[in-house]
Amino acid sequence: MEIGVLGLQGAVREHLKSLSLLGVDAVAVKKAADLSPISGLVFPGGESTAIALLCSGGMLDELRRRARAGFPFFGTCAGMILLAKEIEGHDEAYIPAIDIAVARNASGRQVESFETSLDVEGIGNDVPAVFIRAPYIRRVGKGVTVLARHAGIPVAARQGNVLVTSFHPELTDDLRVHRHFVSMVEASSRKEVSA
Ligand code: GLN
Repeated sequence: MEIGVLGLQGAVREHLKSLSLLGVDAVAVKKAADLSPISGLVFPGGESTAIALLCSGGMLDELRRRARAGFPFFGTCAGMILLAKEIEGHDEAYIPAIDIAVARNASGRQVESFETSLDVEGIGNDVPAVFIRAPYIRRVGKGVTVLARHAGIPVAARQGNVLVTSFHPELTDDLRVHRHFVSMVEASSRKEVSA
């Protein structure tokens, strides 16, 4: 089983490393053709506007098609913005894959970055969470489960095969969030095989 990390901009290497430490074949995905062998895709943090701009050659269309088909996606920070159905102050979403509305840069400026630990439903307690100009979730749709909150604000959520976090688990040594995504991908691949 291979899991891809969208490798256009941002914390790509860190996600590849976390996945590799879990024994997963992790590959950087730069163009639409790179998507064919993978069973799940991580959208890293970075700058959502830059990542979207670099999605060329039918990549965005293919990602939208996969979102509609229920392909496993995991978005961290900017990655969460790319996957949100609604982005405050933007007319359009990029790859609407999860029914949430997000506010960009809601955790503050770069200098206000912080680390805390959070209890994340289905994943564990005291999960270290790094926030860097992070988006906050302002609204969740009916089909969405909030997995963690910081100061009462939702910062991790799941809908079907889509997992999002405002924070950066790939910048810590704790592999539990990645392990959770890997098991989501495994479960979804098993379903495909038996279908
Ligand atoms: N502020 C960035 C954005 O809006 C996200 C920051 C991050 O990924 N650390 O895309």
